[in-house]
Amino acid sequence: HNLKHRYEVMETLGKGTYGKVKKAVERASMKTLAIKSIRKERITDDLDKIHIQREIEITSSLRHSNIIRFHEVFESRDKIVIVMEYASRGELYDYIQERRRLPETEARSIFRQITSAVHYCHKNGVVHRDLKLENILLDQDLNVKLADFGLSNHFRRGTLLQTYCGSPLYAAPEIVKGLPYQGPEVDCWALGVLLYALVYSSMPFDGGSHTTLTEQISQGRYHRPNPPSVSCHLHYACALIDWLLTDVANHWWVNWGYEESVCDCSS
Ligand code: ADP
Ligand code: MG
Ligand code: MG
Repeated sequence: HNLKHRYEVMETLGKGTYGKVKKAVERASMKTLAIKSIRKERITDDLDKIHIQREIEITSSLRHSNIIRFHEVFESRDKIVIVMEYASRGELYDYIQERRRLPETEARSIFRQITSAVHYCHKNGVVHRDLKLENILLDQDLNVKLADFGLSNHFRRGTLLQTYCGSPLYAAPEIVKGLPYQGPEVDCWALGVLLYALVYSSMPFDGGSHTTLTEQISQGRYHRPNPPSVSCHLHYACALIDWLLTDVANHWWVNWGYEESVCDCSS
């Protein structure tokens, strides 16, 4: 398989754990794509292998307009190469950083697309476990493209997961406490962190040291500034942040299946 023959490989878009992601043009179709190369020498243990297998298998099985689609995957002597859809405007992280504060309508549209992608994953028994601003990509028209399923896994009702996963800034209390979890509830917590970031352009939990961060998260203690404007939507957004960043979401998940999505909020 000759990569250079079929694709014109261009500039680096981002650095991954196992190699670089580069922009590329498929010569036959003139389509712009992104190529993630995983250097086999960087795969040192079985866990790396499992994560890469899951990333490929799970992403290939998902079809949703807000999830990065794989174009093809192949293997050479020293590399695993993933050719995928290209998200030209890059990471939501940089987008927020540049804009300082997002207009409310834009933040709402972005969050709606993120939740749509995550809901689709959960409905299909997949938990992402690494939702963060760096893994949410944007295309030319500001459509959300959820990426990086490297820590994702399947979940099943009644079976608990326990791996400590993802960035500590987005980690749910059960994760920082090392407790077992169902799966989707840790994504829901991360959604709370993301919504906070979209509304305030800052992070809810950012304690300087690991110990303070763990404390803040375990106690659900975060700074609640006044919303940047007094719109009714923002009022609801703040209520939703509060709901997602409490153990309520967790209890709900443990007690209810995803299909029977009826929440008895009085208990
Ligand atoms: P890792 O698992 O190592 O974090 P990612 O899959 O998240 O690797 O890719 C690393 C970075 O490369 C992303 O955060 C993003 O900046 C860039 N990137 C990855 N995939 C694409 C893509 N399809 N389009 C544009 N940029 C991408
Ligand atoms: Mg990533
Ligand atoms: Mg990854």
